[in-house]
Amino acid sequence: MKILLTGASGQLGRELGTRLERLGELVRVDLNVAEGDRHTVKQDLSDLEGVERLLSRVQPDLVANAAAYTAVDAAEDDRELAFRLNADLPGCLAEWAARSGALLFHYSTDYVFSGESSRPWREQDRPAPLNCYGESKLAGEEAIAASACRHTTIRTSWVYSGHGNNFVLTMLRLARERPDLKIVGDQIGCPTWARNLARVSDVIIGRLLDGSAGVAPWGLYHYCDGGVVSWFEFAHAIFRTAVKVGLLDELPSMEAVSSAEFPQKARRPAYSVLDTAAIQLAFGIERAGLEESLLACLEEVTDD
Ligand code: NDP
Repeated sequence: MKILLTGASGQLGRELGTRLERLGELVRVDLNVAEGDRHTVKQDLSDLEGVERLLSRVQPDLVANAAAYTAVDAAEDDRELAFRLNADLPGCLAEWAARSGALLFHYSTDYVFSGESSRPWREQDRPAPLNCYGESKLAGEEAIAASACRHTTIRTSWVYSGHGNNFVLTMLRLARERPDLKIVGDQIGCPTWARNLARVSDVIIGRLLDGSAGVAPWGLYHYCDGGVVSWFEFAHAIFRTAVKVGLLDELPSMEAVSSAEFPQKARRPAYSVLDTAAIQLAFGIERAGLEESLLACLEEVTDD
């Protein structure tokens, strides 16, 4: 089997790569390729004609799209590129998959929802994104669904890992730089370790390929790790764990603030918890918990 993995150096892409390379011949694709890296193909994915040429050349049986424009605030001013990468690119991959019969694995976000809910969001709930990033990701979901290709789209939330741009590494840096930290306490969600999301993807791909997933397994699913927290509570868990593994000497001083006190360019949903019952039932997925995932992640973070 030939597999094309986009966004191979991103948080999810790195974790997916180590899983997918066991399933077949893996072609990694990224914008920035380190000198001497002969395993990754350099391709600007905003160039859709270039993407088409790449697909025709590689002829993958499975396309895993971990690439995205993920800078939520920057997207407000960079709408065209955000839509190109988050909507047009998945649409292009999906149309190619529909024509060729390849499978498409794609990722979307909790930010497709408004945040106004009193229970976790289900797949069939009506999206109403508050920001450009959410709008562009929703347009990507819709383009894939419209193509009628064989696909799985997983909406996830608050992704972190031991590398890249994420809340965990930002908090560790800030804890070293500042005596007091103000952290938003009125946005609620479920942090998800990229490695857990890659494991879940691997389980699903395996079950789809060997046919053991049963009927109607394609489509849209929600996955996030267990553990519902505010950003403030998440930061507290990060600092506790960082002290435990020796990344911090002591807990920093923290204060919870409201979203209004911490204005950001893009609006964010207040309640962003995803209901994962469907994916758990369809594929026998067990969710990882926040504390053990954070511990495992931070144990691998080096102190430099
Ligand atoms: P990252 O931002 O860590 O990785 C994105 C990848 O896309 C990087 O490898 C990046 O390459 C690549 N990329 C961006 N622009 C281009 C381009 N023009 N051409 C080629 N490659 C490009 O994302 P995550 O791993 O965090 O996200 C994975 C998926 O999960 C995405 O679909 C995202 O929308 C979704 N998601 C993420 C959340 C989060 O909190 N991060 C929350 C919810 C959903 P380079 O590094 O070289 O720029």
